Amino acid sequence: MHNLWQYQVPLQKYMAMMDLQETNERLFYKLLIDNVEELLPVVYTPTVGEACQKYGSIFRRPQGLFISLKEKGKILEVLKNWPQRRIQVIVVTDGERILGLGDLGCQGMGIPVGKLSLYTALGGVRPSACLPITIDVGTNNEKLLKDEFYIGLRRRRATGEEYDELLDEFMTAVKQNYGEKVLIQFEDFANHNAFELLAKYGTTHLVFNDDIQGTASVVLAGLIAALKFVGGTLADHKFLFLGAGEAGTGIAELIAREMSKQTNVPVEEARKNIWLVDSKGLIVNSRKDSLQHFKQPWAHEHNPITELVDAVKVIKPTVLIGTSGVGRTFTKDVIKAMASLNEKPIIFALSNPTSQSECTAEEAYTWSQGRAIFASGSPFGLVEYNRKTFVPGQANNAYIFPGFGLGLIMSGAIRVHDEMLLAASEALASQVTEENFNRGLIYPPFTNIRKISAHIAANVAAKAYELGLATHLPQPRDLVKYAESCMYSPTYRSYR
Ligand code: NAP
Ligand code: MN
Repeated sequence: MHNLWQYQVPLQKYMAMMDLQETNERLFYKLLIDNVEELLPVVYTPTVGEACQKYGSIFRRPQGLFISLKEKGKILEVLKNWPQRRIQVIVVTDGERILGLGDLGCQGMGIPVGKLSLYTALGGVRPSACLPITIDVGTNNEKLLKDEFYIGLRRRRATGEEYDELLDEFMTAVKQNYGEKVLIQFEDFANHNAFELLAKYGTTHLVFNDDIQGTASVVLAGLIAALKFVGGTLADHKFLFLGAGEAGTGIAELIAREMSKQTNVPVEEARKNIWLVDSKGLIVNSRKDSLQHFKQPWAHEHNPITELVDAVKVIKPTVLIGTSGVGRTFTKDVIKAMASLNEKPIIFALSNPTSQSECTAEEAYTWSQGRAIFASGSPFGLVEYNRKTFVPGQANNAYIFPGFGLGLIMSGAIRVHDEMLLAASEALASQVTEENFNRGLIYPPFTNIRKISAHIAANVAAKAYELGLATHLPQPRDLVKYAESCMYSPTYRSYR
């Protein structure tokens, strides 16, 4: 840590950490685990974003496995070249939508590498069981195509059949090589591909999309925790989203499923309590013909509305969630409208990075006279309002996916089921104490993340057994203890 503190520039800290991961993996994880709050922003967002953007110029050693269009017909062979045989988690991207930074092509490799280091540090998956993969189908990023240090194919992105065939060969080869129980996490695909891949392979492979499902699970956890203290069940609330992409529709669907489960109403009925606004305004029935597939379930009967503030006044939501990627959209008028409708308005400003947040924590508390229950995608510091200190919660996906993955691995699960996402949300919400909540927190402090991950893993595994999707038999008696016993710890061996 002393060495790291010598660097002022976050990117240099990142490079130092990557060097350490290469030369002394155990120490890398020891540092990451013991200093998780300080180092998470270094090895993952926001610094990893900058690292991906400058990938070519900070390149030292290759990391992860690249599979390009040139390897078509030979993907199985390529996989067999990876030195580790017993792979449990693959994080794969095609680099088309890296964080909020757009198409970075092959330079997106920083993301699978970073995500997997969190699988190990926060979820205890063995480092040697993790495989980062970037699929190179070209890039539409003109700047990269002209960059002399760009490492990927210099062509525009393959689409349609060419793309589908490569992905299909990849998915088949992974299953042939690693069997039924390897977890394939799709990461930072553009939204048309993300939804299609999940739907296409969800029934044949163990697949998970963190941008859609992980986000949904962590946000639902925040809502469950908030409602424990605000009162009412999900079905008593009305939800309005700004942004109807991977995050927005993913969260909306999981809320509808949980509502349907709690109240025994069909999910179609539950969806009617949830409204979404996209770049063209409120999603309503009259737009149905021109809507993308994943938006159609949300087209309810209503007059068109274009402005968010008008939608708030007419729909009268109790919960407002921002997932549009566009900053400053929860204006004073919007927050005031929420505060005049609700004693405790629940407001989540999830867009990243900080500059794109729908509003700041301070604005949410000030404009609602300190009544808002607030969480954000990017971290905000403490806020003082009316002599009270508020600690804004961060809906960080890193709360969920490491424990979720561990739960799948330890039970030998062969498919992901929505019920498992709900189980993860409930486990996370149960870790929030009344004391946390009194300070404004709807997520538990991150310092206990390995304990939290063990609880999430246990709940997810329990669901896998219940659904008959677990293959690791017999079921361990105490799943939390078992989860803890499965977790990799970076302790040095004694050679005496
Ligand atoms: P996405 O799939 O591209 O979806 C973006 C959505 O926002 C689209 O529906 C788009 O509308 C809509 N939109 C864009 N500009 C808008 C505007 N001016 N007014 C209203 N709607 C607008 O992106 P995503 O993956 O869902 O991510 C969205 C944001 O959520 C990002 O900032 C991301 O960082 C954040 N996020 C946060 C977390 C977290 O906090 N844990 C997790 C995941 C994502 P059209 O459909 O009409 O184009
Ligand atoms: Mn992502």
